[in-house]
Amino acid sequence: MWWARILGRGGSKIREIQNTTNTRIQVIKGNPEAEIKIFGNKAMQTKAKTVIDNVVKKQQNYIPGHRVDIIAFQPTVGTDTSANESVTDDQPLIDWDQIREDALKWEKKKWADLPPIKKNFYIESATTSSMSQVQIDNWRVSLCWKENFNITCDDLKDGEKRPIPNPICKFEDAFQSYPEVMENIKKAGFQKPTPIQSQAWPIVLQGIDLIGVAQTGTGKTLSYLMPGFIHLDSQPLAREQRNGPGMLVLTPTRELALQVEAECSKYSYGDLKSVCVYGGGDRDGQIQDVSKGVDIIIATPGRLNDLQMNNFVLDEADKMLDMGFEPQIMKILLDVRPDRQTIMTSATWPYAVRRLAQSYLKEPMIVYVGTLDLVAVSTVKQNIIITTEEEKRTHIQTFLENMSPKDKVIVFVSRKAVADHLSSDLILRHISVESLHGNREQSDREKALENFKTGKVRILIATDLASRGLDVHDITHVYNYDFPRNIEEYVHRVGRTGRAGRTGMSITLITRNDWRVATELINILERANQKIQDFIQSGIVGTYINMKRLD
Ligand code: AMP
Repeated sequence: MWWARILGRGGSKIREIQNTTNTRIQVIKGNPEAEIKIFGNKAMQTKAKTVIDNVVKKQQNYIPGHRVDIIAFQPTVGTDTSANESVTDDQPLIDWDQIREDALKWEKKKWADLPPIKKNFYIESATTSSMSQVQIDNWRVSLCWKENFNITCDDLKDGEKRPIPNPICKFEDAFQSYPEVMENIKKAGFQKPTPIQSQAWPIVLQGIDLIGVAQTGTGKTLSYLMPGFIHLDSQPLAREQRNGPGMLVLTPTRELALQVEAECSKYSYGDLKSVCVYGGGDRDGQIQDVSKGVDIIIATPGRLNDLQMNNFVLDEADKMLDMGFEPQIMKILLDVRPDRQTIMTSATWPYAVRRLAQSYLKEPMIVYVGTLDLVAVSTVKQNIIITTEEEKRTHIQTFLENMSPKDKVIVFVSRKAVADHLSSDLILRHISVESLHGNREQSDREKALENFKTGKVRILIATDLASRGLDVHDITHVYNYDFPRNIEEYVHRVGRTGRAGRTGMSITLITRNDWRVATELINILERANQKIQDFIQSGIVGTYINMKRLD
């Protein structure tokens, strides 16, 4: 019979259709006609009908007259039809409503005994609340910044929007009631909040979820750490009575995790303890640290279970997505209490990051620093050299041999093997270098970075592992030996120099293999106020057009 195809062997086909369309299907046999009932929501019913139609049409002895007649669209799943003798699928039917209900019950039970969270710790200062709209706008459009920053904010809550809090202009405006934070800031010698801090602190201190779109080097770590300290230390239930650490910071790389941890320990607050957990580190030590009672875990996504965190930070979400960490993030989040506060930072704001934000943040506000487009830091002079693969070695050797003793350069290459070859080649020429890539042991990676940071070695050859998050203030040059995979990565690499008020220089080798990025690269150079005229006159655009033609 034609309908046997729909059932499949032992009812396997119909089970598959039911599972993929989230419906329940009843086939009441007849000859030549059969009656098919589909239970589920309207959209799913239509989907199931299309699948069934296709199955029937594919049948070799399909006779056009044998239509699938869906005689009854039923509104809900769950009606008991088991008494109907003619149901041919004798497998127990899946009751999705029941499953959903059970899952909700289980979820409720899982989080039933959590201590309450207090979220709002923001006390707006008189100065901040009395700001006029003109003052607020002037502050946000960077009239008050030497750097060319621009702050844009939005409330992503559906329906009626909440007012975006006024930015704070001085540290006291956010932390006057928290002397320990003020002391830390004084000790660090900071003059004023950075743009992201001035707008993020009033939001994060209120316990509102936040998306911060800002590059590294803009002070984004403290924009979530400082309010995090206050949240952790001021909960109604004392820390020692709480079941585990209260804050989890997820970062894409171990280096960034270590850096956030260093920042965390620099600012002691109420004896809060932090620990860095990552694959490849001293696992026993890390586990011991966690069990000794820590308040903040900084980790790369891995096996982190049973965490009842109040605060959750996804640092550099765009990079995490690039590195394929989303499944791990999803898994970790199953164990983080649902009424947590979530902060996400990202240097870019592409569709994938928006989707991530939509899934994991609740009614967030967003603060962009810079524009939504890619703008490489304007404190870096960007140079481009058009060359060939064969000539690259000569270019870099000439550059490295002409470095002045105060220069510090990070050389980016595309692959681990290139990093190794280039490093050994340079070492053979008595040029002292360190290299950083994913195939090196964690201890070697840390040592290489330490030597570079302290200036023991002034040349670091690295893959994109090092393009983000690395906070080495005195890098004078970024050398792109290989052009990065995409223009976002270019911006991140270039941003390794020109930090903390200094100027920097980047040199990028491009070959005909990189022509696809030329238009985007010109855009970046233009927007960062680079002398695009020189770029065009040097024949780059011409070369680009030629390359395009050749391809
Ligand atoms: P981040 O964007 O978090 O990587 O921060 C880059 C560097 O800026 C870190 O070394 C911070 O210690 C430093 N920093 C953070 N906030 C300020 C501030 N308000 N003024 C000056 N430097 C800061």
